[in-house]
Amino acid sequence: MADKYDVIVLGSGPGGYVAAIRSAQLGLKTAIVERENLGGICLNWGCIPTKALLRSAEIYHYMQHAKDYGLAAKEIEADLDAVVKRSRGVAKQLNQGVTHLMKKNKIAVHMGEGTLKSANTLEVKGDKGTETISAKHIIVATGARARDLPFAPADGKRIWTYRHAMTPKEMPKKLLVIGSGAIGIEFASFYNDMGADVTVVEMLDRIVPVEDAEVSAFLEKSLTKQGMSIRTKTGLEGLDVSDKGVKAKIKGKDGKVTEEEFSHVIVAIGIQPNTENIGLDKLVEMDRGFIQIDDYGRTKTKGLWAIGDCVPGPWLAHKASHEGVTAAEAIAQELGNKDVHPHGLDRNNIPACTYCHPQVASVGMTEAKAKEAGYKVKVGNFPFIGNGKAIALGEAEGFIKTVFDEKTGELLGAHMIGAEVTELIQGYTVGKTLETTEAELMQTVFPHPTLSEMMHESVLGAYGRALHI
Ligand SMILES: Cc1cc2nc3c(=O)[nH]c(=O)nc-3n(C[C@H](O)[C@H](O)[C@H](O)COP(=O)(O)OP(=O)(O)OC[C@H]3O[C@@H](n4cnc5c(N)ncnc54)[C@H](O)[C@@H]3O)c2cc1C
Repeated sequence: MADKYDVIVLGSGPGGYVAAIRSAQLGLKTAIVERENLGGICLNWGCIPTKALLRSAEIYHYMQHAKDYGLAAKEIEADLDAVVKRSRGVAKQLNQGVTHLMKKNKIAVHMGEGTLKSANTLEVKGDKGTETISAKHIIVATGARARDLPFAPADGKRIWTYRHAMTPKEMPKKLLVIGSGAIGIEFASFYNDMGADVTVVEMLDRIVPVEDAEVSAFLEKSLTKQGMSIRTKTGLEGLDVSDKGVKAKIKGKDGKVTEEEFSHVIVAIGIQPNTENIGLDKLVEMDRGFIQIDDYGRTKTKGLWAIGDCVPGPWLAHKASHEGVTAAEAIAQELGNKDVHPHGLDRNNIPACTYCHPQVASVGMTEAKAKEAGYKVKVGNFPFIGNGKAIALGEAEGFIKTVFDEKTGELLGAHMIGAEVTELIQGYTVGKTLETTEAELMQTVFPHPTLSEMMHESVLGAYGRALHI
């Protein structure tokens, strides 16, 4: 057998490469196996390249509204090829960054397709042939891929997954986005800002359905105002592709099926874990393909761990990385390190962000979920229009909502929509980690003028003490 490691990580996304770095930091002899690009979906095809695209769309939007700021911008044009080129460049830069981090931490990189031969042995098929490597512990971090429509798989020409939508050869004239989770809404927002005619269909009764209902309603209004057609309680019955476009059979709220033509369709109906055909079947429990684990990433087989998008959600990069650190520390502990103290993941304190325009961010329970869980709640809601910085920025659209347990003052959840809220949410996340109450948040001094002052005002508002509304 070629190698004997302490830890092998299968898959190098934000779950896998972070698990490998933490393992190496803890003095474990570590290897990572990757079949495509170091950095996984997040750096190459997910979080980062989409944010690069959205940044171009945002600047384009500001240029078109230059007059609002007393400026003139003439002959503004969007060059889609250049926008995509920039996004791919950003992805490449980060991919090289992960290569550097592997080297710096002395992590052995095995490029190729990995298959488990046992709980501690992996076969890796790469360009240079097949090798077998083994370790005391293996962490499965193989991530996930886009889920296809059963009746119309993506063809890359007219029907796109996120990969096609990120590298378009042409600008869609009339775009149908199926699914209104974070990925669907981000692409809808990007293409709408870039000038496409965008329709979003969602089976459920509101868009971004995991968010607080007030956020969903506000976002729907805002996106509609920006020119999108948003159809909730609406299902797709069929897609008929031709050279010219796609005919979609759409079943509306009223139960009637209509046929409509689109130039392109983006399918954003969820993810499928990469857990088939890699030797896992007898070694782990699965639920709809997702590997079942304990709070530290242990599967039912000793020495075999799993993290990230191939285990139960939320399917977010920062959750994958956090699980990677926890698993690495738990492994180090099992191998005798007495100085590490891994903590299981607190699933109630994982922030979620959607980078549409306006942005959406949240952490903890929605108002409805808190009530369902039996809490009597106190709710604060502060609008952007009451904040000096938001008005100065020309971004007075949005609100910040906080949900507290009336009995103890515990912050149960926070829900935001508006400019830069994806940067603000971490304030409340830290607060929740420290088990903060309303009294401590009210006592905290917030800098002026900042958007963060609305976080203070929302808390004050929950207790009838908001100052600027
Ligand atoms: C368009 C889009 C936008 C997103 N935006 C955000 C965002 O803004 N914020 C956020 O938190 N999350 C976002 N996500 C989700 C995020 O990308 C994932 O949650 C994250 O990448 C999961 O990390 P992971 O390490 O579990 O898996 P992945 O990143 O999927 O990495 C898994 C890696 O394993 C490799 N692999 C799989 N099987 C094998 C095998 N048998 N042998 C060798 N290698 C293998 C794959 O090639 C891949 O590189 C987005 C996703 C998409 C698609």
